Amino acid sequence: MQRQFPVSTAADILSPDHDQPNETIQSGYRAYLKHHGVNGRVGQKRMIADIARYLGAIQTNADGLRTSEDAVCVVEAGTGTGKTLAYLLAAIPYAVRLGKKIIIAAATVTQQQQILRGELPRLRAATAWPLQVELAKGRGRFLCLNRLELLLAGSEGLFPGLQPVSATGSLINTADSQLIEGFAREHYEGLLSRFTSRQWTGDIDSLDDELPNGLWQTVITDNRSCFNRDCVFFSQCPYFRQRAQIESADIVIANQDLLLSDIRLGGGVVLPALKDSILIIDEAHQLPEKALNHFSAFAGLGSSQQQLAEMKTRADAAEHLRVKDHKLEQRLGEISKHAVEAGELLRELWEWQQTQAQWPEKTDRFEQQPLLQRYEAGACPEPLRVLASKLSQQADKLQAALGDILSGIAQMLDSDGIEPDESERLQGESLGFSADQTYVETLQRLYHQIAEIPDESSRMVQPPIAVWWTKMSHDSGDLVLHASPTHGGSYLAEQLWQNAFAAICTSATMSDGHDQSASAFRRFSDTAGLPSASVFAVHESPFDYSQHCTLRIMNAKQRPGDSASYIAELSAAIANSLNFTEATLVLFSSRKQFTAVMARLEQLLDKTKYESMLSQLSAQPAQLIAAHQKRMSTGQGSVLLGMASFAEGLDLPGELLTHLIICKLPFAVPDDPVESTYSEWLQARGGKPFDEVSLPDAIIRFRQAFGRLIRTEKDQGRVTVLDSRLLTKRYGRRFIEALPRCRIQRFDPPLE
Ligand code: SF4
Repeated sequence: MQRQFPVSTAADILSPDHDQPNETIQSGYRAYLKHHGVNGRVGQKRMIADIARYLGAIQTNADGLRTSEDAVCVVEAGTGTGKTLAYLLAAIPYAVRLGKKIIIAAATVTQQQQILRGELPRLRAATAWPLQVELAKGRGRFLCLNRLELLLAGSEGLFPGLQPVSATGSLINTADSQLIEGFAREHYEGLLSRFTSRQWTGDIDSLDDELPNGLWQTVITDNRSCFNRDCVFFSQCPYFRQRAQIESADIVIANQDLLLSDIRLGGGVVLPALKDSILIIDEAHQLPEKALNHFSAFAGLGSSQQQLAEMKTRADAAEHLRVKDHKLEQRLGEISKHAVEAGELLRELWEWQQTQAQWPEKTDRFEQQPLLQRYEAGACPEPLRVLASKLSQQADKLQAALGDILSGIAQMLDSDGIEPDESERLQGESLGFSADQTYVETLQRLYHQIAEIPDESSRMVQPPIAVWWTKMSHDSGDLVLHASPTHGGSYLAEQLWQNAFAAICTSATMSDGHDQSASAFRRFSDTAGLPSASVFAVHESPFDYSQHCTLRIMNAKQRPGDSASYIAELSAAIANSLNFTEATLVLFSSRKQFTAVMARLEQLLDKTKYESMLSQLSAQPAQLIAAHQKRMSTGQGSVLLGMASFAEGLDLPGELLTHLIICKLPFAVPDDPVESTYSEWLQARGGKPFDEVSLPDAIIRFRQAFGRLIRTEKDQGRVTVLDSRLLTKRYGRRFIEALPRCRIQRFDPPLE
């Protein structure tokens, strides 16, 4: 969706008599305050000044490229500061003056929409600045017309992963293929008709109806399966229309995942080139973890063998490709050969794994958790490293052969006079080999990481790669191998901060809240790989927490853990704290704790109350939040129960949330493989994992969770923390001091 501002060119935003960005910032801010009849906020003004000072200090050469050293401007701004307006007001005049684009990398697609529909139109209404703004989203948000046409033509593999639902809401028996076909066809035709009649742009986020589970995944494509300019639908393609609009946009509102995908493709592929852009990372505290997720990989040994067998079958069956091109015949033979060899190596790996340490026992209560085996401090055994090296070589060979096959098919599709039937057959084959390529890419990422783990003598130099195995139970389920970097700082430094013309990181929680100096950002600086010349600022929330918020801390008798007495005390405290006539959010620290407490609450609460609670264990967050809002809008109370995803980014202003219950201080779960591996490595180097990793991470998460309660100036409520370590442990004060000043009450657990 494009937003075109009404005046002629972007340069018109600079003050008429001089092109000083700071003058334009001031006049823009004055216009904004006057137009909307609001007062300036101290934190917001200071944030604007921080960013303007940072941008004004950047030195450039004759080509407009940055010559000053790498530096990031890091601004922590408490809830209510108005950080979106602050960074837009400060960055736009500088971007225009310097001839740069602005890329905003939000945390989620929802936040992208909020920026597009919230502060940007308000700024436009006040200033009429002539800027072209464009949303940038990944391919997965757009309809692939080519894929849709193949599906409607009835090509093979029509309904992968589709879970059709009947009119009454029950799942249709997936064995009944005719029924599925009729069901899916109806939806596909509906999508096509809405697109061709221009009622819909092909963007999932602007589709009014909800699609059946899994159906959207069948009508999208990835970069490997896309025919790009060779596609007959190229000129109408919703994804490439977005790309064209991005090229001419002044401000691109992207998300962090898309930014990371773009730099993995080499940078400047979907988004503007970083060297020509002012990059603004919003909710920047999420970036380091997202970077790790982008490089982690896992694959089941059994499912990989199956995929390789299917790859071989596909290659063996592609008879007409063999006939058409001798070179392709050779490459198809290579796919067959390497798929068999890789399958054999996977069998060897499985046999080796069976000789290794016993799997831990599982308790009956938490059957849904997989069993896990991990290598301490990333000390990967040599036989695994050797097999991973061989598997990564096989995966490289498969990738090369698949690439040649796909290029060969693309050339055939490009040739003049190709018959429609032949074209359709080639496209179907291309989709199959593209899917193989995507799978092989996962194998490459997994086995390359393990193969490249240094030997013991040099293992202490770089942060380790975490390697672990999982399986669902002792006697069933696939054996899954996982690998992940434990630290993404150097990657972000090389790919983002070195390349961007300028970079601004902002969020309400990047520091450990200890003070307002750079040292409070030590953990974020480390995990994000910030350059040493970076500048830091903190602006507190303008809300009056001392009047509007009470922090209640329970003098719990039990130590947090899995013990029955702890779960009993916690459950009784929750049951006692709930008021079913108001809006409450209960945050659990793990699924394990959540499940155990729910079992107790079923006994402690009456049936109607228990069943009225909205639990993340039984529904998707979006459905729960919609139900919560509906209940509150009709004057009922509502109790939402959730885990970590509810502790971040959830915006429930006013009456939608008046009581927040935090069950436990949010230290990472002790068996988190990535954090455990990193902590062990750090300790072996003489570091202090608790002080350097666990504590600052937990404080930042605690501040995030606490921030769910007060969202606007008028909000009031209480936060109840059912973990007495806030009172009894030396580090407890660090958590309390990291919060805005509010009233504090202590209370005893209810008598059982
Ligand atoms: S250009 Fe690519 S994404 Fe667009 S319709 Fe064609 S194959 Fe699909």
